Amino acid sequence: MIKAIIFDMDGTLYTNTDIKEQFAKAAYSTLAKSDNIPIDQAQDLIEERRAELKAKSGFPVPYTLTLKSFDIPIKVWHKENIAFFDPRDFLHKDERLKASLVKLKKNHRLAVMTNNNRIQTERVIEALELDGLFDRVFTFNSFEILKPELEFFKKAAAELGIEPKACLYVGDRYDVDLQPAQEIGMQILEVKGPEDIYNMTSKVFGKEQKK
Ligand SMILES: [Mg+2]
Repeated sequence: MIKAIIFDMDGTLYTNTDIKEQFAKAAYSTLAKSDNIPIDQAQDLIEERRAELKAKSGFPVPYTLTLKSFDIPIKVWHKENIAFFDPRDFLHKDERLKASLVKLKKNHRLAVMTNNNRIQTERVIEALELDGLFDRVFTFNSFEILKPELEFFKKAAAELGIEPKACLYVGDRYDVDLQPAQEIGMQILEVKGPEDIYNMTSKVFGKEQKK
């Protein structure tokens, strides 16, 4: 039986092309500052590296992990993107998502688990008007560990006080979210955005009824 549902945030609880663009521009700016090179050159270096990493892993690689490959400390990247853009300028309440989460909360503990930092995460949750719906919000700042490290998933389940096998992980990236969640015994649901969460109540219960 699923007792807890853990959601990835970016690309899962919302999709937004402006924010994607802001993340990319913030990443170019971070490398440009760090290496003292022009933005255009930083952009080329980052996109080349992302293509290489994608070819190697078979999956698109987030900017956080791309910058890490340039030895840019996660904390530096987070400080830069917090200053670079505010997700509240681009996001607004999603009525259908909120209604679905309110229903799910009646029978499940709900959590967010993201590689994003605490400040940007709080801004996103505020903009989507989902405050108070999550029992726990785990960000990079919680344990200073990034997905796909298994330790992040294990610690989140432990802090929720629920065995991994009773957790459902909902995310948009197989290699970063779902593969590791499954590896420690969680159930998984791959989504392409919040639209796939609108009707999740029936999906989750549907799964349980079959057993
Ligand atoms: Mg995501």
